[in-house]
Amino acid sequence: MMTLTKKMIEIRNILQQVGQSSSLTLPSIVVIGSQSSGKSSVLEAIVGHEFLPKGSNMVTRRPIELTLVNTLGSREEYGEFPDLGLRHITDFSSIQRTLTELNLAVSDAECVSDDPIHLSIYSPNVPDLSLIDLPGYIQVVGQHQPLELKQKISELCDKYIQPPNVILAISAADVDLANSTALRASKRVDPRGERTIGVITKMDLVDAAKGAAILNDKQYPLRLGYVGVVSKAPQTPGLFKMGSTNPLSVVAKHERSFFSSHSTEYGPDAGVNVGTPTLRKKLMQVLEQTMSSSLQSTSDAIKQELEEATYEFKVQYNDRPLSAESYLAESLDAFKHSFKQFADEFGRPEMKELLKSELDQKVLNLLAARYWNKPITDLSVSQTEPDQIADLPKADPASQYWHRQLDASVSSLTKLGVGRLATTVVASSLQCHIDRLLKGSSFASHPFAQAAIKEAAAAILNERFYSTSDQVENCIKPFKFEVDVEEREWNQSRHHAGEVLKKELQDCEAALGKLESVVGGRRKLGEVMGFVDKARKGDIVVEGDGKSGAGGFSAALLGRGREAVFLRDRADIIKMRLLAIKSKQCATVKNKYYCPEVFLDVTASKLASTAVLFLNVELLSEFYYNFPRELDLRLGRHLSPADVEKFAKEDPKVRRHLEVIRRKEMLELVLEKMESLRQLEGRERERTAAR
Ligand code: GDP
Repeated sequence: MMTLTKKMIEIRNILQQVGQSSSLTLPSIVVIGSQSSGKSSVLEAIVGHEFLPKGSNMVTRRPIELTLVNTLGSREEYGEFPDLGLRHITDFSSIQRTLTELNLAVSDAECVSDDPIHLSIYSPNVPDLSLIDLPGYIQVVGQHQPLELKQKISELCDKYIQPPNVILAISAADVDLANSTALRASKRVDPRGERTIGVITKMDLVDAAKGAAILNDKQYPLRLGYVGVVSKAPQTPGLFKMGSTNPLSVVAKHERSFFSSHSTEYGPDAGVNVGTPTLRKKLMQVLEQTMSSSLQSTSDAIKQELEEATYEFKVQYNDRPLSAESYLAESLDAFKHSFKQFADEFGRPEMKELLKSELDQKVLNLLAARYWNKPITDLSVSQTEPDQIADLPKADPASQYWHRQLDASVSSLTKLGVGRLATTVVASSLQCHIDRLLKGSSFASHPFAQAAIKEAAAAILNERFYSTSDQVENCIKPFKFEVDVEEREWNQSRHHAGEVLKKELQDCEAALGKLESVVGGRRKLGEVMGFVDKARKGDIVVEGDGKSGAGGFSAALLGRGREAVFLRDRADIIKMRLLAIKSKQCATVKNKYYCPEVFLDVTASKLASTAVLFLNVELLSEFYYNFPRELDLRLGRHLSPADVEKFAKEDPKVRRHLEVIRRKEMLELVLEKMESLRQLEGRERERTAAR
């Protein structure tokens, strides 16, 4: 018969993983008793090892769901905490330490928790049993314990002592049975005493006649009866100096000799049950019977659950199979595909455009600094020097001054660190594109994978950064000394420079328009601008620093006025320069000093084209080659199954899908096991009947 219990316990453990629905469990033996009733000693005597937490500070704070597995034929004894991934712990004091830590992790304020600790013990010396140890009932709440603790413990125990569980109610012989908290609790949920086993501990503390009377208790008769035990041997002075308790073999021997020395009261003919071996046997029998009788109802409940899960799988997920691995692989493939598409579309022309528009901005800045530098003086500086204003169209292009200006501008452009700039522009654009691709992929709901992918991109780009920028810088070196321009190039740039200026003009005008609406209309802005203009020309002397306002205008308004004047002047200059570029004078490279905008644009174009050649080889091709491989490395084979599972479950939809499948698989497995169990049970029954 014993294989039945083992199999049922196995099923019970699988069911525990399926879910907490109470109809989906097989019964277990629940151990209750008040503190110091000897509960731990009894459990340890059954297991044959000390492994439970000891101490005065209420050490059992969480239920311990203990599975004992008989390993017949093996000599090894060990424990496992499956939830913690702790396997094969052969040192029982280490099990004891782990249990103590797990219990003490429940805070003093919370004191008890209903989150169970799962512990399995494998040994040739234990029976197949499934036991649940609960915090002991307390009489008085301690100083640092919450007042409602008594209540909390009692509620926790009530949750577990419901049918079909068997109750192991522990009471000490030296305490009046009428006062036993354990029996009182069991009487509440099992008034006819049908699924309670009474254990009377500390039988050595009462005289034999009284002991026998307790075991024959008629006040609360139990169908499964009472068993008397002694689970502590008297301390022999000098013999067990190492610890306060006796080895359990000594305890067992002591118990045996104690009961046989009172054979009249406790002997075979006395009609009472005594001793830990008797208790073990009883527990095995009772558990097996209880499990057997709930087999049918549990199996019905499982069938029902399975039907529901199958239905959900069909309706919600169209029977589509899915595993964490396949989900990851599909997501990764889809992402790599979208990356490939991007890579096909983003090449040299796109890089050049990016870089050129960055350089266009630099050119505009240079022009503003060297050519369009009409200073917008602060109001406090009322005198401006007219020479500072460079009205280029009226200037003489033959003058050395303009030669130097253009040379200096070109030099600033070629020496601004094109290598670094170009590499940064392309690298950050690639990163932006990866971010965009991620947002549109199934990784969008997976922070973990997103981070891994971004890191992969950054790692490759960072690794190539310095060598790429050095290479690019090197290859544009010739332009630092001379820029040769052909007429064809000039014409192209003449057109392009015009476009850039037009765009800049639009921007200026748009900004002006915005200022108008901020200030409250064109007229208002015009008034402030008029004031700023006058102050600049020196027509008005502004007192103080102008920061606190002047001429009836607030400081903020004056600020906007200055901004508007700046924009207006810039727009005027740009209009002028646009005319200049369109004029005949700018039609040829020979007049380059007259047309710095065009010349700088030619230079910028050459810089961009040359840089892109090297960027393509040093950065882009490398990135396109390495990135998919880096993805495989980071999200492929190297992830542990647990990480893959964690990844997949980040997405709630996928999580639910996986859970339904897992639940379905588990239920199917359990049902299959139950079926074979029922066949086994039938055969057993036939065999017993035949005997
Ligand atoms: P728990 O708090 O219910 O787990 O009780 P313990 O198992 O820790 O026992 C409480 C105290 O009673 C300890 O000091 C044990 O040594 C002692 N004790 C347990 N069983 C017996 C027994 O059968 N006889 C005697 N004399 N003392 C026992």
